[in-house]
Amino acid sequence: MSEMNPFAMAQAQLDEVAKLIDLDSSTHELLRWPQREMACRLPVKMDDGTTRFFQAFRVQHNRSRGPAKGGIRWHPDETIDTVRALATWMTWKCAVVDIPLGGGKGGIICNPKELSEGEKERLARAYMRAFADLFGVTKDVPAPDVNTTPQIMAWMMDEYETINRQHLPSVITGKPIPLGGSQGRGAATGRGGIFALREAGRVLGIDFKDKTMVMQGFGNVGKWAALLGEELLGLKLMAVADEYGCICNKDGIDVKALDSHVAKTGSITKFAGASPISSEQLFSLDCTVLIPAALENVITKDNAPQIKADIVLELANGPTTIEADKILEKKGVFLVPDFLANAGGVTVSYFEQVQNTYNFYWEEHEVNRRLNEKMTTAFNAVYDMSKKRNVNMRNAAYMVSVMRVAEACHLRGWV
Ligand code: NAD
Repeated sequence: MSEMNPFAMAQAQLDEVAKLIDLDSSTHELLRWPQREMACRLPVKMDDGTTRFFQAFRVQHNRSRGPAKGGIRWHPDETIDTVRALATWMTWKCAVVDIPLGGGKGGIICNPKELSEGEKERLARAYMRAFADLFGVTKDVPAPDVNTTPQIMAWMMDEYETINRQHLPSVITGKPIPLGGSQGRGAATGRGGIFALREAGRVLGIDFKDKTMVMQGFGNVGKWAALLGEELLGLKLMAVADEYGCICNKDGIDVKALDSHVAKTGSITKFAGASPISSEQLFSLDCTVLIPAALENVITKDNAPQIKADIVLELANGPTTIEADKILEKKGVFLVPDFLANAGGVTVSYFEQVQNTYNFYWEEHEVNRRLNEKMTTAFNAVYDMSKKRNVNMRNAAYMVSVMRVAEACHLRGWV
């Protein structure tokens, strides 16, 4: 098995858990593969008058517990296997926080940095036109992910409403607030991760005040995790990386000042309050919490032995390879696995769907209170399973989720 194929990794993780819960072979086979996949080549008129074709995907892994749910990524390295893996993880993520949704994911192979605003809008609309039959609040509800924004969600929603000739804001989440977006959605993945981290600190007896965090990624997820880790838990940001470089200040980086710097310059590099370090150094820093919040497969068998953090909070999807997982477990690192740690985003996306459907909107404190409840309950269900069955947190999260999804498949009579 290739260490770098995320779908093979998602299947291998399920295979391990299938043994632990004695999953029957038919349900195991059902859950190893997506139920539905669609691929399209999207024609887009470019600003220079030529037409370019973009390969795009939508994958629905499992819809036994509700309509599919999952983001759309725009990335030059996107592949069908990345989308399959992410759709599979969405099934487990929705189940672990016990929201009535299944797993889906979408992607377009493109480099958004090379596209003008007009080209992005035409690409977003072309995606929605091609996949519109799959989408709808009772079928499949997409959302933002890597390189996709509330503006892109707004164009897609508008295209869907134009096709269907009615207001249907619940077709997509992560929208701008004036178009039916939820208060608190932007920060939700980071905030949910920090709620889960707070619970990890409680069970491990760690008080995070003035302890340190190291972050890979300072996009939507990483930025909010850094801001809220400081605000809610008193953590200091010791080092941070983005795609352009890594910076470190052992006395703590001023996160708000860094956020303003990134808003102005587009990168964390050249921030006056920290010094550059290499990406190898980033993972080997002596810190309390290491937070991968960028891309998959970044904690590998090569850098895992150097990790000195007490806790790894996986906010990115699939950041740790299977070999690295075993190394971290042996070292006694407490890992909060991806589909539990980053479930805050989908939870508030679900709240957004609920508010759109009722056409009645909640204040931000109401959204955050409900998110706190969901994340706390989910963390404790997983932690209790890990203690009861003497398994690591990733396997425990899988056990909770797979058992819930398998039960829904059995009740429907699918297996
Ligand atoms: P984003 O595009 O807003 O930010 C990504 C960040 O990672 C940027 O700072 C970018 O510079 C950095 N990055 C990219 N390549 C890198 C590299 N090679 N080395 C170091 N840094 C690099 O994306 P996001 O929405 O913050 O998503 C980050 C991760 O979280 C992804 O794995 C995504 O699937 C996952 N996730 C996102 C959400 C959400 O609500 N946005 C929810 C759940 C999970």
